[in-house]
Amino acid sequence: MQKNDMAVIEITDIGVGGEGIGKIDGYTLFVKDAVIGDRAEVKVIKAKKNYGYARLMRVLEPSPYRVEPRCRFARQCGGCQLQEMSYGRQLAFKEQKVRNSLERIGGFSPELLDRITEPAVGMEEPFGYRNKAQFPFGTDKEGHPVTGFYAGRTHDIIANTDCALGVPVNHEILESILEFMEKHHIASYDERTGTGLIRHVLIRYGFATGEIMVCFVINGTSIPNAGDLIKSLTAVPGMTAITVSVNTRRTNVIMGESFEVLWGQGYITDYIGKIRYQISPLSFYQVNPVQTEKLYSLALEYADLKGGETVWDLYCGIGTISLFLAQKAGQVYGVEIVPQAIEDARRNARLNGIENAEFFVGKAEEVLPAYYERYEKEHGGEQARADVIVVDPPRKGCDEALLDTIVKMQPEKVVYVSCDCATLARDLKILCGNGYTLKRVRPVDQFPMTVHVETVALLTRDVV
Ligand code: SAH
Repeated sequence: MQKNDMAVIEITDIGVGGEGIGKIDGYTLFVKDAVIGDRAEVKVIKAKKNYGYARLMRVLEPSPYRVEPRCRFARQCGGCQLQEMSYGRQLAFKEQKVRNSLERIGGFSPELLDRITEPAVGMEEPFGYRNKAQFPFGTDKEGHPVTGFYAGRTHDIIANTDCALGVPVNHEILESILEFMEKHHIASYDERTGTGLIRHVLIRYGFATGEIMVCFVINGTSIPNAGDLIKSLTAVPGMTAITVSVNTRRTNVIMGESFEVLWGQGYITDYIGKIRYQISPLSFYQVNPVQTEKLYSLALEYADLKGGETVWDLYCGIGTISLFLAQKAGQVYGVEIVPQAIEDARRNARLNGIENAEFFVGKAEEVLPAYYERYEKEHGGEQARADVIVVDPPRKGCDEALLDTIVKMQPEKVVYVSCDCATLARDLKILCGNGYTLKRVRPVDQFPMTVHVETVALLTRDVV
């Protein structure tokens, strides 16, 4: 195959980025926007020795899994990769992705995985699920301010105030901001020249409370005619917090280091299950609250707490899982590297009257081993124990020093919440080589229409 060759191809597989994969005489082609089961005409855009990339030119016979995308920018936009695939097939793809990693990287047998893998937890309505969106602002060819999303792998803005993954109210808010900017000749930031005022707008929506926060990220010290802006935004039902964060640095980091309240208060309130959270523009908070509640409930179910247990929640963020577990445990310890997140965790514990959760700032792979050693010294050689250890690490997974200490502390159960099934498989293999058995695995779809997949796994300690 060579560049610009045309070919007709059956799409027989799905790549890690959601693209379709097909073979022509043993030569593999990756085709963006093609759906598994499609027969399609494609044009080669890049040809390597054994594989190449092709553009979807025409679907000749659509796959039974092909659906009409909800959003007309589904192909250009960098946000969604699977919008043209039926939701049921997306879930099957995610289950397969997790299984493949556990087999190939973790070395778990297909028979075991058949027995213990549970079907992915999907959404009833897999659109409009995001409670947070950050919209970049730019200027179109005619000089008008626009906002929307970056096209895949670029910083070109696709003007779209109606993203299908966000809440409908985003549209009304963004349109009134654009109108305000037109009226007062306020320019969007231009990252090439470093000029212009409005860089990004962050919108957060409390699904349980209906409270809305808007945060303007600006390249300057204030927004002129802000009174007018406040007037139109406060007409939106639910508006609770209008804030400004100054960011004058030439950087890709969106938010500034702090924020000020322009109107209302500096935070919104939301609930996951019965736990109440205060969320500021700078706080980390799970973006899909509906699925997060299912995710944490599953972690809680796997932990199977009876009431007196000592539980560690490592990589605890703002303490979301910790507070969930504290409702059923004796004592919970949370560990997180970001100090502000721990401040939020402590405040959220107080806000909910939870007294059996304690939080530590630091690296999980340093805090837990240090605790273990200190305990041994202070207790005349007796070893620190835990009943359940929950980990929810970032994509790179757990550090080996942490896994070592977990093994030493011999918890009955380890509940592993993962956003990257490759590092999950790697870490489970280590734990299963050191006295643990994999008992249950279940993907949870936190991000429908995208290729991301979250997984919860349960390990129990072998009886010796
Ligand atoms: N469990 C939380 C957050 C999980 S995201 C929730 O469900 O909301 C992973 C978290 O790990 C992030 O908050 C990140 O700041 C933190 N983190 C990253 N590296 C870490 C490390 N080495 N030790 C402790 N926390 C870390």
